[in-house]
Amino acid sequence: MTFTIALVGNPNCGKTMMFNKLTGSNQRVGNWPGVTIDKKVGRIRGTDDLELVDLPGVYSLSPYTPEEIVSRNFLVEERPDAVLNIVDATNLERNLYLTLQILDTGIPTVVALNMMDIVEKQGDSIDVKGLSKKLGCPVVPVSALKGIGIDELVGEVGKAIDNKAVSEPVPLGERVEASISIAESALKGKVPDQSIRWYAVKMVEGDVTLSEEYPDVKSGIADEVSALEKDLDDDADSIIADARYNAISGIIDGNVKKSKKNHEDSFSDKVDRIVTHRILGIPIFIGVLGVLFLGIIGYGDIVGIGTYCTDWLNEFIGGLIESANAWCDENGVNPILQGLLVDGIMSGVGAVIGFLPQMLILFLGMCILEDVGYMARVAFIMDRVFRFFGLSGKSFIPVLVGTGCGVPGIMASRTIESERDRRITAMTVTFIPCGAKLPVIAMIAGALFGGNGLVAIFSYVLGVVCVLVSGIILKKWKSLSGTPTPFIMELPPYHVPSVINVLKAVIDRGWAFVKNAGTIILLSCVVLWFLMSFDTSFNYIGANATSDSILQIIGEAICVVFVPLGWGNEWELTVGTITGLIAKENIVGTFGVLYGIEAGESGEGLESVLAAALTPAAGLGFLAFNLICAPCFAAIGAMRRELGNWRSTAFAVLYQCMLAYGVSLMIYAFGSIILGTEVGIGSLIAAVVALVILAYFMLMKDPFHQNGGKAIGDSQ
Ligand code: GDP
Ligand code: MG
Repeated sequence: MTFTIALVGNPNCGKTMMFNKLTGSNQRVGNWPGVTIDKKVGRIRGTDDLELVDLPGVYSLSPYTPEEIVSRNFLVEERPDAVLNIVDATNLERNLYLTLQILDTGIPTVVALNMMDIVEKQGDSIDVKGLSKKLGCPVVPVSALKGIGIDELVGEVGKAIDNKAVSEPVPLGERVEASISIAESALKGKVPDQSIRWYAVKMVEGDVTLSEEYPDVKSGIADEVSALEKDLDDDADSIIADARYNAISGIIDGNVKKSKKNHEDSFSDKVDRIVTHRILGIPIFIGVLGVLFLGIIGYGDIVGIGTYCTDWLNEFIGGLIESANAWCDENGVNPILQGLLVDGIMSGVGAVIGFLPQMLILFLGMCILEDVGYMARVAFIMDRVFRFFGLSGKSFIPVLVGTGCGVPGIMASRTIESERDRRITAMTVTFIPCGAKLPVIAMIAGALFGGNGLVAIFSYVLGVVCVLVSGIILKKWKSLSGTPTPFIMELPPYHVPSVINVLKAVIDRGWAFVKNAGTIILLSCVVLWFLMSFDTSFNYIGANATSDSILQIIGEAICVVFVPLGWGNEWELTVGTITGLIAKENIVGTFGVLYGIEAGESGEGLESVLAAALTPAAGLGFLAFNLICAPCFAAIGAMRRELGNWRSTAFAVLYQCMLAYGVSLMIYAFGSIILGTEVGIGSLIAAVVALVILAYFMLMKDPFHQNGGKAIGDSQ
């Protein structure tokens, strides 16, 4: 028989680190049913019957966020054999808020007092025995980081299971307890006896989910709850929250001694006073970023490490492709096979793999900043701005990474705790122009705006606006509704990054990318190659012979859709948009091929062709469409990984394309009026309709906005 132990704790209390310490390599990772939150299960090292389940980090067992729902359902419905509650010892007040709710469930509980190394370093002391007595459950001081106290912890968990030690609730004060007893009698027989107190407290609190589930209990205790509210002159959920905080003060009193001097002057506090300063914070942040990007991407004559590696790899891949071509020529390989191998697979996958060094190095830099603790400060600084648009400050980091490449940008959304924020961010990061879109921006600027740098600035501003607007729109979808992650209240102390953590994160991402390149990207490239290299009678028409190909027929069929946008009369533009799905810079290369411009002279020749084909407004609209619509296959693959399934990925791509269409239309129609160029009345009307639809979704009342995210910060 195996026993299940649930690992529960606040976000950032060290759960993941403890999980890895306890299970070593005996882990399985999947998703919780229905949500894309990691589900990690592993056997505790040195035991053969203790299975540990890592629950998502939560502050409370409320029913609001997906994380809370997963955690509380697992505890009260699956009823694990024991709970291992990880508590951040440097922040007992906030962490015990969850502990009290866990103890209500009656499940045998062991509290691991984590981060004791920091507590000791700060010169604070905690009376563990006294704490254990007041909480009524075993408390073990540990440090997941230093690996201290782990064996004792496993020993206590084993004992708790053997003794079937039912956890004792912490009383919440006489008046509140009276209401809880009444709720308990009303619930008798309707819920499992062991956890009846948990249900009772939640019913008094006015828990929305349970109130719906047990309407008769709710009405049965309604009078008592009103009386309680009247007696204590507050609403029930605040009363319960206050009662918990009072109980926590009682528990901590006398058991925790803070060394005042050390505490106030801790290194982290000192640094934070400057780094998160209201005014200095943002310039410092821009400086840090500047250094990072300069080091990775470079500027002017300075070649960054990432660019250097990318150039090297691209040259290497180019050489490989050439040799493969030469080899095929020499050995008389079937030209179709040669085309498939060289033009389809090697060029297509090579284009994507070429991003890898840039991406990994950018990611390495971000991981280090994250592990040191700086990213939490950045999120803190940006929180105020992003919250206004329904996103949290944490969404800012992926957006930032996305300016280099969308793939690590999408992957960086992993660090966002709230599932909803994470999904919205992963869906919108690629609106920001990435490195590969720069040649397209340069092409349009050169062809239609005399190379004006404003086109580039316009592109970035458009990207940011689309992210923010989408934050407002997407949260009105049921699956993405809710409040953003609670305001970041506590900043973790700075510490030296752990080499293993950082490398693991980077390798993990790199591997996911390579796996994508070997599967979905490979397949997509082969399909596109086929469409480009065969004509409609399935005759092979050779490498890069995009004209007369099936792709041309498709382009000609689809381009009609883009006629209202002012760039649908040229099927080449549509085909370019399609080949841009392999990598956005392909758009420029494809035009070169389609308009028959030799590689060497592509610059000016191409610009004059485009200048003749497009009005400035239509060109800008074309650019906008390609910036916002479905990103390249590599990024779609990354989205698929973060969103967890193809359905959400398809939704995201559809949303992106629709938004791109509307924006492109508006830019063309309104831009034409502003610039005094020709525009059809149909386009104008359509643009006004698009504007109205967009405004409607933005202004529409959020149908799912409830009294959500009632995190403890709100009730204090
Ligand atoms: P989770 O969000 O609960 O999974 O927390 P993590 O395991 O990701 O840890 C959050 C941060 O706390 C990481 O930067 C860890 O390195 C750090 N951490 C975890 N446990 C300890 C500990 O015992 N001592 C110290 N000093 N840091 C720790
Ligand atoms: Mg974690």
